[in-house]
Amino acid sequence: MNKYFSIPESLLTVAEEVEAQIRPQFKAVESIRQHNVAKVLKAFIDARVGEEHLHGTTGYGHGDMGRDKLEEVFARIAGAEDALVRVQMVSGTHAISTALFGILRPGDELLYVTGKPYDTFDEVIGLRGEGQGSLKEWGIDYRHIDLKENGKVDLEAIEKGIGSKTKVAAIQRSRGYHWRPSITMAELQKIISVVKKKNPEIICFVDNCYCEFVEMQEPCEVGADLIAGSLIKNPGGGIAPMGGYIAGKKELVKKAAYRLTAPGIGKDGGASLEVNRLFFQGLFNAPQMVGEAMKAAIFASTLLEKLGFTVSPTPGEMRADIIQAIQLGSPEKLVAFCRALQAHSPVQAYVRPEPEHIPGYKDKVVMAGGTFIEGSTIELSADGPLRDPYVAYLQGGLSYAHAKISILKAVEKILDSK
Ligand SMILES: *Cc1c(COP(=O)(O)O)cnc(C)c1O
Repeated sequence: MNKYFSIPESLLTVAEEVEAQIRPQFKAVESIRQHNVAKVLKAFIDARVGEEHLHGTTGYGHGDMGRDKLEEVFARIAGAEDALVRVQMVSGTHAISTALFGILRPGDELLYVTGKPYDTFDEVIGLRGEGQGSLKEWGIDYRHIDLKENGKVDLEAIEKGIGSKTKVAAIQRSRGYHWRPSITMAELQKIISVVKKKNPEIICFVDNCYCEFVEMQEPCEVGADLIAGSLIKNPGGGIAPMGGYIAGKKELVKKAAYRLTAPGIGKDGGASLEVNRLFFQGLFNAPQMVGEAMKAAIFASTLLEKLGFTVSPTPGEMRADIIQAIQLGSPEKLVAFCRALQAHSPVQAYVRPEPEHIPGYKDKVVMAGGTFIEGSTIELSADGPLRDPYVAYLQGGLSYAHAKISILKAVEKILDSK
């Protein structure tokens, strides 16, 4: 490694200690990966994926065999009745927004039970911005139940908080840009049972971004009714060039499909162009890639904690997403961290990240990610809003070996910075 990238000897020594220390965690990652690779492989075999499914359609996309087969495979893996896996979804926010607009009607209430959701949802809900086209403008009410002091879900408050108009209980599993733990399968199951006990009619919706293949189960296997996420995160395996997914109960997926395309067209339209092979191949690779990303996160967590930084999750903590949050404590360190990561990326290593305002986010954000797919966060990337305590959110990594180089260089830079 040092032949190509000079890393101080002292740091390499610490890295070696860290790698020895995290062997048991890597072993746990391996067994989850083995389980999920087997699950995905079985779904491909049982669904009889053939060469003919790897090609796409144009125009209306009627009778797109590959797209339909992909959705069948995806549903099997997700433990869902049906799925929509589409190039026409531009991002995770679009997938989640499509699902919510699909299943909510005027007069209904959306209740987020995991605190205030991801920043980009402020405008979907109608909390910020001009409100045009928001759920609020459509007469859909919103409330959220705060997390407890320790960042854990408040089951009692959820039980009390569910009202007569609550139609959807939404659960965001990943931490997003917040300092709180991700929501494990076991916790998700508890939340769902509290909601269903109060009122079995309520739809449990899960924002599953960053959590696919991190554990051995997926949300529909523990009772979630509908889930959504992005294909330029975990389930695209670093190969899907764009897209999003929605999966769950057949009736709910149909409603979401009516919203995505048009009533009457639903799932039957939507050309897949030439991406079917990429979606299949990415999905097949996804558990492998998620395992690499998990290893990168565990390495970063252990190394940075050893160097005195506050990290979440801590090295031994249970993980439900691929994000590693690191409190860097100063804007200089946050920017230096991101710049070093960018400088050790395969694409656009020569670009120097600057903090910027980006649509959907409130604070200036600094982002690093020299990725093959623009904005992909299953590829090694880091970002953080410029607000105290200057947390870097590190995620992804198609190869642990690459992530290790970038993380070591980023650590070298923050140790040199104010
Ligand atoms: C990434 C993410 C989203 C969607 O973000 P996009 O950038 O629109 O793909 C939604 N929720 C969470 C928790 C996320 O991490």
